[in-house]
Amino acid sequence: MAEVSRVERAPDDLFLRIVAGDVPATIVHSDDQVVAFEDIAPQAPTHVLVVPRERYENVAELAAKAPQVLARLVEVAQRIADERCGGEYRLVFNTGTAVGQSVFHVHGHVLGGRDFTWPPG
Ligand code: C5P
Repeated sequence: MAEVSRVERAPDDLFLRIVAGDVPATIVHSDDQVVAFEDIAPQAPTHVLVVPRERYENVAELAAKAPQVLARLVEVAQRIADERCGGEYRLVFNTGTAVGQSVFHVHGHVLGGRDFTWPPG
């Protein structure tokens, strides 16, 4: 697999810029800990990203350093799925370039609204 650009590892964190309102996004939820917005390239009828307001590179770092923020992220993901797809959804945290992580600010993909196959490709 081709190496994914490491640009987003730099301090110029795209999702921090979205949280700050400096990069446009369709925000669907915002609170003191997390922000959720529509994925710019949706892979399902529901495809929302839920991100912490502060930068953690991946879900393991978030769990270790701010477990309460991870809990809020999951709670918001569930609420979005309840509202949009009857509570049936896939919550994905890509971790590492080999499995497709391209933005190194942890984000949960909330995917739903269609049938999914298993295992994922
Ligand atoms: O898991 P991964 O790091 O690949 O996910 C990054 C996601 O961020 C992609 O699904 C991409 O479509 C999304 N994205 C976005 N808005 C941007 C840039 C990327 O929703 N401006």
